[in-house]
Amino acid sequence: MSTMADSLCAQFDLDAMFPAPTDLLGIAFAKQTCGECPARAECLEWALDPASRCNFGVFGGLTAEERRELIRQRNLGNADRLDYGKFPPKKARIAPAV
Ligand code: SF4
Repeated sequence: MSTMADSLCAQFDLDAMFPAPTDLLGIAFAKQTCGECPARAECLEWALDPASRCNFGVFGGLTAEERRELIRQRNLGNADRLDYGKFPPKKARIAPAV
């Protein structure tokens, strides 16, 4: 079993795995990288799982659109809602840089 530590994309700039939907060259590069990655199967399942789903980028060799189709075919349902907790009180917030 592979782990994310084995992932090819972790060896370079991760931005390459998030090409714009119209960036066909970028998508091809990301897919080629996934195609050679030992963690591909685990990565794809992670990206499809409702608890860890990611709706953008290339994961496990599939674009977000391709994953949406797979999610529909497998009837995996909607992604879990993330709970970021309560917003901190105003006095506890860090002032924005000016
Ligand atoms: S399958 Fe692709 S996105 Fe997933 S870890 Fe491997 S290179 Fe990264």
